[in-house]
Amino acid sequence: SENFKGKTVLVTAAGQGIGKATALAFARAGATVHTTDINEQALAALEGEPGISTRRLDVLDSAAVSQAVADIGAVDVLFNCAGFVHSGSILEIKDGDLDFAFDLNVRSMVRTIRAVLPGMIFNGGGAIVNMASVASSIKGVPNRFAYSVTKAAVIGLTKSVAADYVGQGIRCNAICPGTVESPSLQERLKATGDYEAARAAFISRQPMGRIGTPEEIADLAVYLAGATYTTGQAYVIDGGWVN
Ligand code: NAD
Repeated sequence: SENFKGKTVLVTAAGQGIGKATALAFARAGATVHTTDINEQALAALEGEPGISTRRLDVLDSAAVSQAVADIGAVDVLFNCAGFVHSGSILEIKDGDLDFAFDLNVRSMVRTIRAVLPGMIFNGGGAIVNMASVASSIKGVPNRFAYSVTKAAVIGLTKSVAADYVGQGIRCNAICPGTVESPSLQERLKATGDYEAARAAFISRQPMGRIGTPEEIADLAVYLAGATYTTGQAYVIDGGWVN
């Protein structure tokens, strides 16, 4: 189906993993998709895909975010996917890492949402989908202090934006995955020193007995972008982990 024909979509962190899968899913649904990432090499693999254009964008850079949206013009859908996983408890995490986690996982979304909202409001509406996690206000996950604090903030940010702009046709929802296959997951598993054991541990906490795929998360992102009667919600998609 081409439900998103004529719609413009902006995706951050679209170079790999969930962002990439979601950009491709929106393009299949007929959208004009602007994919962005700091990794230009990763973006290059998306060049030539029907409906997709690529652009380097560092979501830590407010001026660059403003410029990107000025160049692209009004967007109908914003998918805020950029995020980073720090390991460590409250006693282990460095303040600098916590600051960085806030900047990349939360303030990036403040930047992009501020940039796109005026255009969405002018056009009578729009949809924002923010990447959170079950490791947040939903579930305490060991060894993920900075990550969980910031992903909980994403849920609060999502609800706040949804409440403030519901009257102007803006919907804002969050996605809360469990463990999903991605290049950074592979790196985290390798970094443990025992890839097979770490992978088995991740799988063992999944009642479905497997890790999720980026395509499964992409389907939810596309659904939420078009779900005209839902806003301010945090959608868990985790293979039954939290249940
Ligand atoms: P990933 O971590 O493998 O890739 C992240 C992408 O973000 C990379 O392409 C990277 O270049 C880009 N990026 C990093 N810093 C950036 C910046 N400053 N500006 C723009 N782009 C930047 O992908 P993933 O694992 O699919 O994760 C995507 C999102 O999903 C993240 O927010 C992550 O926290 C969240 N998430 C992932 C999982 C999982 O298990 N993979 C689970 C829950 C939530």
